[in-house]
Amino acid sequence: MQFRTRAIHVGNEPDPQTGALVRPIYVAATFAQPGAGEWGEFDYSRSGNPTRKAFETTLANLEGGVGALAFASGMAATHCAMLLLSSGDHVLSGSDIYGGTYRLLHRVLDRSDIRVSLVSTGDLKAVEAAITPKTTMLWIESPGNPLMSITDIAACAEIAHRHGMLLGVDNTFATPVLTRPLELGADIVMHSATKYIGGHSDLLGGALVVKDKTLFDQLYFLQNATGAVMGPLESFLCSRGLKTLELRVREQCRTARQIADWLATDPRVAKVRYPGRADHLGHAIAKRQMDGAFGAMLSFEVRGDFAAAKRLAESTKLFQLAVSLGAVESLIEQPASMSHASYHRDDRMTHGISDGLIRISVGLEAFEDLRDDLNYALSISLSPSA
Ligand SMILES: *Cc1c(COP(=O)(O)O)cnc(C)c1O
Repeated sequence: MQFRTRAIHVGNEPDPQTGALVRPIYVAATFAQPGAGEWGEFDYSRSGNPTRKAFETTLANLEGGVGALAFASGMAATHCAMLLLSSGDHVLSGSDIYGGTYRLLHRVLDRSDIRVSLVSTGDLKAVEAAITPKTTMLWIESPGNPLMSITDIAACAEIAHRHGMLLGVDNTFATPVLTRPLELGADIVMHSATKYIGGHSDLLGGALVVKDKTLFDQLYFLQNATGAVMGPLESFLCSRGLKTLELRVREQCRTARQIADWLATDPRVAKVRYPGRADHLGHAIAKRQMDGAFGAMLSFEVRGDFAAAKRLAESTKLFQLAVSLGAVESLIEQPASMSHASYHRDDRMTHGISDGLIRISVGLEAFEDLRDDLNYALSISLSPSA
């Protein structure tokens, strides 16, 4: 069955008792058991819940995993994956990654004596060179955030496995519609379900998907032991989101492409970063690794300073000034002051997250309206001759 058919039918069989096409939302915290010491399929909702299970079943299928685990947020999911590490271990992570992942690695895990280095994972030689005998995990995003850097997932899997490391891929930007990292050799796929999976800016959620049963059991143990599970309402909304995921993502990609091409012709814009453009570093890898489209996230540098970029982000009417991404409404933000403010300034500068950078998440509005909105904001924040 094709992706979009599985997204609708796998994990969503009609309720066996009533025939309801949509299963009830099971809010029960606990479940009656057949006998003392005899356990039914579900016993306590932290350990397992039927509504959460339905979402996990669909997502695992779409990513090609043996199982998925749904969490209260994307950060809870990433944290759980990092709990596989022990004191003394070293994590190698992409240099343009989600700001919250940077914070978790640099300001929380470092207290457990887990070391982290950032490396431009688009450069495989640099990845190889940064590996130490203590490196046990490579954590990447492709496209990266906020620079849309492209990382060759299959090549990273090969490097990681040659050094006995795990490869984790934050697949939030690409979604399983465009990239399925497990098929490319990754060990762990992570999602912020808050973004494209939910798709409507109305929930927080996260997920891990793996293809190895032993790793799944380890992560399940950690999830149950620490408890940051996804609630039943969010699980229901995520199941619903998956049903329209492919349609939303493909349409949003189409509009993002039009916006990227339009911005690239604008003299007020110094550089457009969109993996679908032939001038984007890593475009050829993106073409191979992404299924027919290049995502609905893009960033661009304005010919102006911090203040000009700030003004621009504050001047759009349709693009809402907000962090987050992947939903039906378009969003705009300035990474230097918003999504990546938790980076040390030096790390931001070394890795090219400049003051004049603007990141947008393209929603489901019409291209013409979004273009006019950006055009207006550019006109009042930057002079055309600059
Ligand atoms: C939002 C996001 C996260 C964190 O997810 P939350 O649901 O906000 O905790 C992680 N990675 C990426 C790429 C994200 O966009």
